[in-house]
Amino acid sequence: MTSCDAPLPDTLAPDASRLTVDTAALVANWRRFARAGAAAACGAAVKADGYGLGARPIAAALVAAGCRDLLVAHWHEVAALGPQPDGVRVAVLHGVMPGDMARALASPAVPVLVTAGQVQAWKVTGRPCDVMVDTGLNRLGIDIAEARSGLLDGLAIDTLHSHLACSETPASPANEAQRAAFADIAAVVPARRRALANSAGIGLGPGWHFDLTRPGIGLYGGGASPDAHPLAPVAGIATRIIQLRDVPAGASIGYGATYTAAGPLRVAVVALGYADGYPRSLSDRGRALVDGVPCPVVGRISMDLTIIDVSAAPDLAEGDWLTMDFDLAGSAAASGRSEYELLTGLGARYARVHT
Ligand SMILES: *Cc1c(COP(=O)(O)O)cnc(C)c1O
Repeated sequence: MTSCDAPLPDTLAPDASRLTVDTAALVANWRRFARAGAAAACGAAVKADGYGLGARPIAAALVAAGCRDLLVAHWHEVAALGPQPDGVRVAVLHGVMPGDMARALASPAVPVLVTAGQVQAWKVTGRPCDVMVDTGLNRLGIDIAEARSGLLDGLAIDTLHSHLACSETPASPANEAQRAAFADIAAVVPARRRALANSAGIGLGPGWHFDLTRPGIGLYGGGASPDAHPLAPVAGIATRIIQLRDVPAGASIGYGATYTAAGPLRVAVVALGYADGYPRSLSDRGRALVDGVPCPVVGRISMDLTIIDVSAAPDLAEGDWLTMDFDLAGSAAASGRSEYELLTGLGARYARVHT
């Protein structure tokens, strides 16, 4: 019995665990954020290699669906997206750090300038840019007072951005405070567009949408839905059984002998470990799903291997594929890691299969 029958492209390592990326689900999620954002254009944060899922195919699918604004953190992430069609804008959220100028000028992407020094250095170029103002996150961005001081005069600003600190907590008064501060500064800084909302920010309501939204995690199936329906899961993990073994009652399993079999168990040792981004903190907590039947991880997850109690799935054979339960909310709760960490922590050792 195999739980993962998708043929593996032969360019990919046949023995590696598979990271499956459901492109239709990704696009469906993007369309829902786009619809929720109403008149605002809907961009996509594809930084960190598309939150670990493969920036290039993800960008291609979203652009084909109508997305015209892609956001990355670093200049090297621009090249990784591949060439973009006319009308697609790539913005680099870290701006232009010392040493980046030549690369930035040669790039089709635009910087999101985040410091006064970056603004001064970029002004000389006369080229268009985006600007990030800080309205309370106190992370990257130009302070409101600096933005009001005339620092930005003479810049050709396409999009004025700010970023929310507490969008995942809709009841937080910080959301309205940042919205109001952003509206005030946007009224005096000339820019073609204004952008404030990440995924959760879109759900706060029309007041937060402005002209462009920047969803990330929601596109990949994480965080709260912007509408009444749950987001579609996008990422899946399938791994192969290397060995099946029968463990007698009373025997311990795995490093540190942390798990002791209460009764006789049949366990599967699979080719998945924390080096693949399957968190060690899911030891004794994670699970595989065999035809919907949960099969728990037993003992410590090691670098390359995980041991799963498959007593409930007697038909499995060595070499079969197992689908791990990678429900983001559940895995985040069980592992103590955020959904963002789970996705971006997925390792480079997978054979990625975009369907
Ligand atoms: C990463 C990022 C986003 C996307 O945030 P999500 O919470 O993943 O939707 C949006 N804007 C900025 C500035 C970011 O750094």
